[in-house]
Amino acid sequence: MGKKFFYNAMIVNEGTCAMGSVLVYDNIIVKIVYIDEGAAAYNDFVHEAQEQGAEIIFCQGMLLMPGVIDDHVHFRDPGLTHKADMESESAAAAAGGVTTFFDMPNTKPQTVSIDDLNEKFRHAAECSHVNYSFFFGATNSNTEMLKQLDKKKVCGVKVFMGSSTGNMLVDNYESLKTIFKESPLPIMTHCEDTEIIDANMAEYKSHHGEDPDVKFHPEIRSVEACLKSTELAVKLARETGARLHVAHITTADELELIPKSKAALNGNGEEKFENITAEACVSHLMFNDADYQTLGTRIKCNPAIKGEQHQKALQKALFDGRIAVVGTDHAPHLLSEKEGGCAKAVSGMPMLQFSLVSMLDLMTTLCNNDRQQAAIQTTRLMCHNPASLFGIRRRGYIRVGYKADFVIVREAEWTLKQGDIISKCGWSPLEGRKFHHQVYATYCNGNKVFDIKQGVDRSCIGEAVSFDR
Ligand SMILES: [Zn+2]
Repeated sequence: MGKKFFYNAMIVNEGTCAMGSVLVYDNIIVKIVYIDEGAAAYNDFVHEAQEQGAEIIFCQGMLLMPGVIDDHVHFRDPGLTHKADMESESAAAAAGGVTTFFDMPNTKPQTVSIDDLNEKFRHAAECSHVNYSFFFGATNSNTEMLKQLDKKKVCGVKVFMGSSTGNMLVDNYESLKTIFKESPLPIMTHCEDTEIIDANMAEYKSHHGEDPDVKFHPEIRSVEACLKSTELAVKLARETGARLHVAHITTADELELIPKSKAALNGNGEEKFENITAEACVSHLMFNDADYQTLGTRIKCNPAIKGEQHQKALQKALFDGRIAVVGTDHAPHLLSEKEGGCAKAVSGMPMLQFSLVSMLDLMTTLCNNDRQQAAIQTTRLMCHNPASLFGIRRRGYIRVGYKADFVIVREAEWTLKQGDIISKCGWSPLEGRKFHHQVYATYCNGNKVFDIKQGVDRSCIGEAVSFDR
């Protein structure tokens, strides 16, 4: 590892985007100096790095951001590794500037026991190219295990409220209440009401046959189904004081239930979160129901991508504190599994590898072409807030004493081709799309795990992140 000097970067951190340099010893940031601190101080810093024999990484004209922390991925490992696995998807993460991921429990076996959870950590320590933690899956019958979870190591408890793929549905009100009362960890919920969805599906099948066209997906997995389930989650959180993080909000209606977080006025510049927070996913921010026409089941996911008014509401909520975090819900499947309509095609799409560049492009539009502001807001939602919200120890910010997890991004125009895709499933709903940002290199724990010329360094292995709780 040794010493590395990230020289003349546009450092994006804590509400600013300014030219400076960063010195790293092994895996820790030891010094940061900005050009506007004065030429003398800056030149001294450059000389200091040179005298110490630090490897110089020229970042002129490029953004240096904290590595992205994705709080919502499905790596399909163990048990579903024909479509994705820990090694392949963590490599895709590295190529996308993602240095930490939180993986979901709907694998085979499901992560619903302490042994299965420990096994995931053991497997990741062998083959994950970036940093990781794992959600524990709550069920109707494993609530007594919640107290045994290691708060310093496990990111949270995932609760499928209402329907989802896999058989981890918690539909018993008493179990739900027990989970909300007793979870020592943040609870992340998938909110969709099964009864509404089942009734809608029966209705659509009666009119459109056994496998209704995918364009009906947002009508079957409807706004009402999302709202009813999210209402219940918010109500339970208020009654029990639980720390609730609602996954992948998709409707303007649900946003009404989410309190706004507040950026701290003084002090460390970290956002102050209420007990109830929400995540939006890149796919729901980028697409709306008009895209089913061209992309079909490629963009079929649960909860469904809905109408443009909901997409616009989600985009607005990125700026007013209601959406605290942007994740991906990276959920790879083989294209062959995506054949059919609402009933037959599986739900979920790969998004992890291109989430950062997608968000930088989208933010540039939402920020009226103010590129610095776009980088600042993207960093807030994809790096700082996931770290602060979950209490990740010493990551997510470019600060002295923090781990050297970085992504270097350059402005470049490029078109996504199938050959760019590292995810095992080998396709992306973004193929053919033109991007204006490109991941140039990714550093994880001070190691260069990806650069644009050499690709992913598969000898790099990440760490389990720890939590200050
Ligand atoms: Zn998910």
